[in-house]
Amino acid sequence: MSKVYGVAIVGGGFSGLVAAEKLSKALGGENVIVIERNDRVGKKILATGNGRCNLTNVDISEKRYHSVMGGEIGFENYGERSLIEYFNSLGVNVAEEDGRIYPSSFQAGSVVDALRLSLSSLGTVVKTGVYIQKITKDGKVFKLKYSGGEITSERVILSCGGKVGKQYGTDGTSYALAEHFGHFATDLFPSLVQIKTDREWIKGLKGLKIKAKIKLLSCGKEITSSTGDVLFTDYGVSGNAVFNVSAYVHGLKSPELSLEFLPWQSEDDVFKFLCAKTKLGYIGTEDIFTGVINKLLGRLIVKRCNAQKFTEREVASLTKELKDYRLKIEGTLGFDEAQVTHGGICLKDIDLSSMESKLENGLYLVGEYVDVDGDCGGFNLQWAYTSASIAAADIKRRSKNDQG
Ligand SMILES: Cc1cc2nc3c(=O)[nH]c(=O)nc-3n(C[C@H](O)[C@H](O)[C@H](O)COP(=O)(O)OP(=O)(O)OC[C@H]3O[C@@H](n4cnc5c(N)ncnc54)[C@H](O)[C@@H]3O)c2cc1C
Repeated sequence: MSKVYGVAIVGGGFSGLVAAEKLSKALGGENVIVIERNDRVGKKILATGNGRCNLTNVDISEKRYHSVMGGEIGFENYGERSLIEYFNSLGVNVAEEDGRIYPSSFQAGSVVDALRLSLSSLGTVVKTGVYIQKITKDGKVFKLKYSGGEITSERVILSCGGKVGKQYGTDGTSYALAEHFGHFATDLFPSLVQIKTDREWIKGLKGLKIKAKIKLLSCGKEITSSTGDVLFTDYGVSGNAVFNVSAYVHGLKSPELSLEFLPWQSEDDVFKFLCAKTKLGYIGTEDIFTGVINKLLGRLIVKRCNAQKFTEREVASLTKELKDYRLKIEGTLGFDEAQVTHGGICLKDIDLSSMESKLENGLYLVGEYVDVDGDCGGFNLQWAYTSASIAAADIKRRSKNDQG
């Protein structure tokens, strides 16, 4: 008879590896199997944070998370402190940069190595290059089918990721594994992704990075907003403020971005400042924004307002443009370039205190696979950690009960 594992974990990404490591300590590595379709585990982790792996953030709270159909997630027991202590316990020291937490090596590879080394010392079974096609329940055990074989396990964790970044093994095909048990995936959207805009009013700005408040509008009405970095590119805009509104672009009527430059200063204050500047007498229209915002951007604003002289009316229209710089949206760079999936397996069928399915005993769903996505800044790896830790704690408790 083939071996029956205590837990089979489908997906060797961040959540799968954390769950495997924690469960191997509790149940023994020989009772835990990780199945990964790529030829090695943690491939996506290596790409996170531009190769530096932004593990978490000092500002973890529910309000930084989004869901298509909703659900009450919490970070009480497994928040950022818990994540940091956990990685410290694996020998990874951390460093903070503007509220974002990274390994102090600033190398994503060190996070993968720490998890991999611990799993190897615990004797966890890691099967790579294997794609799980179907999971069924046969009496009390799950049968995980792949081309050329089958794995049997008492419990299963689905940590298959979402639909973004198919180059990392996540193409959305694995939602079918949960759907077999009656779960369903919500509508899916690419999030934390670059936005394509009309080019006319970003010409010459490629490479410029500024701080701005960015509002996403539909037919002139605000849908959502974010403040942070905006990076101009040849196709549109990127940067964390852009990423944070990107999930909501899809399907909007007449979508536009409104960029507010100098968001920390009121329109009235900027207007007064510019009026005073015109009184200097020697400033040409071209240079009105010199020393106020980036010169190239300033010149585009002047051109857009067709400002010739410094009448009060013209200064008012320059100020208005600076505070509400509109760009027509043409779309996003889509699932291939996005960092996270907005949407996933619906939370209403999951017990969020254990991450266990309400539809199938012993089946757990964690990480990006479920309908939770976070802002840019370490929030998604934190959710992967939190949900994996909740599932691991529940399985540990239930396994003890099984034995007792
Ligand atoms: C370029 C990039 C940069 C990012 N940077 C950050 C960052 O700095 N900070 C942050 O918090 N978040 C970041 N994210 C988001 C973050 O990486 C993900 O949200 C997180 O990795 C999700 O973890 P997960 O374990 O749920 O899924 P994943 O890490 O996606 O892992 C899922 C794994 O399951 C495997 N798999 C899927 N189906 C099967 C199957 N049927 N059989 C076998 N294996 C299967 C896949 O190959 C994959 O390895 C970034 C994402 C990208 C793409």
